[in-house]
Amino acid sequence: MTKHVNCRDAGFDCSFEAEADDDDELVHEVQEHAKKAHDADFTREDVMGLAVSV
Ligand SMILES: [Zn+2]
Repeated sequence: MTKHVNCRDAGFDCSFEAEADDDDELVHEVQEHAKKAHDADFTREDVMGLAVSV
């Protein structure tokens, strides 16, 4: 199942979006972005909490 994350939903003024079929890949993409762009550490739970199925 494809899941989608908007960085904006995490409270950042940011247009980053990630989409992946695989949860691990989605978590990795979002964690990497959050760290680089916002110096924020997202847990797997954080990312999955933001994810919506598309
Ligand atoms: Zn962002």
